[in-house]
Amino acid sequence: MAEDGLVENFHEGTVGQRHFAHPIIFWDETLRDGEQTPGVHFNPEEKLRVAEVLSEIGVSVINAGIPVVSEEEAEAVERLASAGLKAKILAAARTVPGDIDAVIRSEATHIAIFVAASNVHLQYKLKMSQDQVLAASVRSVRQAKDAGLHVAYVTEDTVRAPFDFVEKLYRAVKAEGADRLVIADTVGVMTPLTFRWYLREFHRRVAPTDWSVHCHNDFGLATANTLTALEEGVTSPHVCVNGLGERAGNAPLEELVVTLEKIYGVRTGLDLSRLYEVSRLVEELSGVPVSPTKAVVGYNAFSHEAGIHTHGILAHTLTYEPVQPEIVGRRRRMILGKHTGKAAVAAKLKERDMDLPDPVLVDLLQRLKASAERRSKEDLEEFLREYRSLFEQPGISDEEFWKLVEEMGLGARAT
Ligand code: MN
Repeated sequence: MAEDGLVENFHEGTVGQRHFAHPIIFWDETLRDGEQTPGVHFNPEEKLRVAEVLSEIGVSVINAGIPVVSEEEAEAVERLASAGLKAKILAAARTVPGDIDAVIRSEATHIAIFVAASNVHLQYKLKMSQDQVLAASVRSVRQAKDAGLHVAYVTEDTVRAPFDFVEKLYRAVKAEGADRLVIADTVGVMTPLTFRWYLREFHRRVAPTDWSVHCHNDFGLATANTLTALEEGVTSPHVCVNGLGERAGNAPLEELVVTLEKIYGVRTGLDLSRLYEVSRLVEELSGVPVSPTKAVVGYNAFSHEAGIHTHGILAHTLTYEPVQPEIVGRRRRMILGKHTGKAAVAAKLKERDMDLPDPVLVDLLQRLKASAERRSKEDLEEFLREYRSLFEQPGISDEEFWKLVEEMGLGARAT
């Protein structure tokens, strides 16, 4: 980012680039974990639209979904697998033979086999012993390898599981032929420091060659943790467009790619200029609005209002823009409002070749500020009421649920 030699970049060439894998294999989870965002559903047509853009952008692996979930889901995976996309199409399966058969039938070339690893998940959710998990994992990897699939092995909640068990599991599936080993911070409890330690320890114990991380954003650390993983040589980060996903979501594709390219100077091979396009598409199809302050793709990410800032931007964009908006397919916006300064007003007037003397400019500025301060918030309040009511109960409403129960004639018998 040291354009014009005007700014220093303390990462590039120093701490950042020691271990980065080349190429980095971007594994997109928008259509699987992203679809598990409360209330979100993509039909096969919509999944295909997102996958086409992701593939064109240069994402290497696309998780299309879990075929055993429903007929429609299986159809979606099949459609993506047969669409002739450049990206590899992956489908997910539990360590259950029927799940793996469903992936084989879908003709996806890649599979992610997942099972939980932590004690809390084994005891309360799976009700399986460590030995049972180990046996099911090895058997499942074998089943998928025998079918000729590229196999990624994933444990849910890896980082909260006993390390000795994690080591045993991953060594076993690796010996069985698993191609890619995925470490999941399923509830987002790692920090860059603890994750760095974890990954070094994992590397020492398991010696993976192709390994992957799945980071959640419960504490807002998904991007930072994924970046740490890449610094440690992890080959395949899991990402979601707009950071979609369960609860607070996953590591956002756009944040990770732009950070790698613009702060670290790592060439990802991805087409950054279409990041905004895919963000808009996923926002529209998921119905999950992007926060205005969201990095890279939020409405305000390249907007300037404050006088000092717009003055700086007008003089040289590097003053307040670490990334030029055009690079990610966007344009900067100058907002006129309460915090506007003279430079922005003068620049605005230039659009009509107007050049006013200073006292008139000051007068105009004062009127503009007063007008901004008088603006009614009614529209915004109405919008927020509507917005909140949509998100307070996404998915099937209580009313719809009980109607379904009644339609089945279960009403009277319900306790
Ligand atoms: Mn997840």
